Amino acid sequence: MEPSRELNFDALVIGGGIAGLQAALDLADQNFKVAIVEKDATIGGKMIRLSKVFPTLDCASCITTPKMAASAHHENISIFTYCDLTSLKRDGQEIKADITQMPRYVDADKCIGCRQCEYGCPVYVPNHEEGNFNFRKAIYIPFSNAIPQIALMDVENCSLCGKCAKVCPTGAVDYFQQPEDFVIRAKTAVLATGFKLTPMDQKPQYGGGKIQNLISSLDMERLLAPHGPYQRVIRPSDGKEPDSIAYVQCAGSRDKTLGVPYCSRVCCMYAIKQAMLLSGALPLADITIYYMDIRAFGKGYEQFFQNAKAMGIEFVKAKIAKIEQADNQYVRLRYEDQEGNGGVVEREHDLVVMSLGMVPDWNPAGVCDVACDTDAFIKSTIPSLAPTVTSIEGVFAAGVAIGPKDIVDTIAEAGAAAMEASKYLNALENPKAA
Ligand SMILES: Cc1cc2nc3c(=O)[nH]c(=O)nc-3n(C[C@H](O)[C@H](O)[C@H](O)COP(=O)(O)OP(=O)(O)OC[C@H]3O[C@@H](n4cnc5c(N)ncnc54)[C@H](O)[C@@H]3O)c2cc1C
Ligand code: SF4
Ligand code: SF4
Repeated sequence: MEPSRELNFDALVIGGGIAGLQAALDLADQNFKVAIVEKDATIGGKMIRLSKVFPTLDCASCITTPKMAASAHHENISIFTYCDLTSLKRDGQEIKADITQMPRYVDADKCIGCRQCEYGCPVYVPNHEEGNFNFRKAIYIPFSNAIPQIALMDVENCSLCGKCAKVCPTGAVDYFQQPEDFVIRAKTAVLATGFKLTPMDQKPQYGGGKIQNLISSLDMERLLAPHGPYQRVIRPSDGKEPDSIAYVQCAGSRDKTLGVPYCSRVCCMYAIKQAMLLSGALPLADITIYYMDIRAFGKGYEQFFQNAKAMGIEFVKAKIAKIEQADNQYVRLRYEDQEGNGGVVEREHDLVVMSLGMVPDWNPAGVCDVACDTDAFIKSTIPSLAPTVTSIEGVFAAGVAIGPKDIVDTIAEAGAAAMEASKYLNALENPKAA
């Protein structure tokens, strides 16, 4: 299909997580015209889904929402959500990106975000956004502070009953909307494609994803978030508040058999953060963290760890060998006692959280020939001096797209990528000064 339009920008940012937003804002503030392309229906990345952030325990959405809004309202930034990047290549002096606008089955120009369609839709679908703890409708806006506030239809679950179209006050519902191909040309690009978690069912010895009260660390972020699914922490099997909660560290990292031999860097700290928040939310609950080593590497992080111990959170040095369903909805953990009397120990908890590993969200194969490391993250070609420089001239990278890191380092790296991109743009304009 012929692209419907070609758009020109100074800079193209792929990914609208905190890294992409920061890089875009820094470039736009220098008067460069920036396009952000995001595959999700909203910008915000993982950070908008978090509860609070270590080590300050500041509210994550209170930091992310203003950056999302600043990007959306910036006169130099254009945001393209729900887009599939099909090709990103250098084309002479420019970077050319082929993009497909996926159909929302809602006309973005007509939708006013009133949610009448959502209220009218009779179909309930498990809400993946909220760890499947609650339900959304077949037509929905991802969450209350999503940007843009435009509905999208989940056609796989839609019964085509027509109710949403009937109640929509602007006639925005369009069952016949088609994908639209378009091209963005820019002089430079920043890849900020972030991460996804290793799958819950990756390890058969960890129950293969089939144990009900075994949840992921991102699910726990949603349970702890002030605007989360229940405004309280529950165990999924029966909605009861848990009395005993455990964390399994390195549940998807530092394991060659999973192809994730590296440390995901943030799991120790977010487990400690969540444990602290849990001891505030459920003061009578026992909280245990099973760990191989605690990696509290950043400024103030060691103190954060010590504070957690002082609060009564139990730290057990053990690599969990097996996780299985026990009676009474409990989850049984089996491990070798490394610090006490030795031997195999079994303990049961009524909610267990897997600190899963971080792997790249984007696989450039077939889309972009940017070089990647053996761990599949984008390769920094000058890692010690300019970590945001990639193998393609004029294309930079930032955030977890390069490798696991926390928000502080992600934001710093996004600023560095924007600096490199602006240096590159200025050199194109004034080749003699460069
Ligand atoms: C459970 C958990 C808790 C955490 N808690 C903390 C904490 O308290 N403090 C802290 O410092 N860090 C924390 N972190 C780490 C933090 O989430 C990351 O540092 C941060 O989100 C990285 O931002 P990013 O923009 O690089 O990636 P992401 O947030 O993953 O954003 C990447 C964006 O790119 C988009 N994208 C991907 N591929 C494409 C494509 N091909 N085309 C277009 N768009 C694409 C994605 O949809 C996404 O929106 C936590 C992580 C986890 C898993
Ligand atoms: S599609 Fe219509 S009813 Fe739904 S949010 Fe948009 S304007 Fe409102
Ligand atoms: S047509 Fe589909 S999305 Fe619209 S109300 Fe019916 S089930 Fe929901």
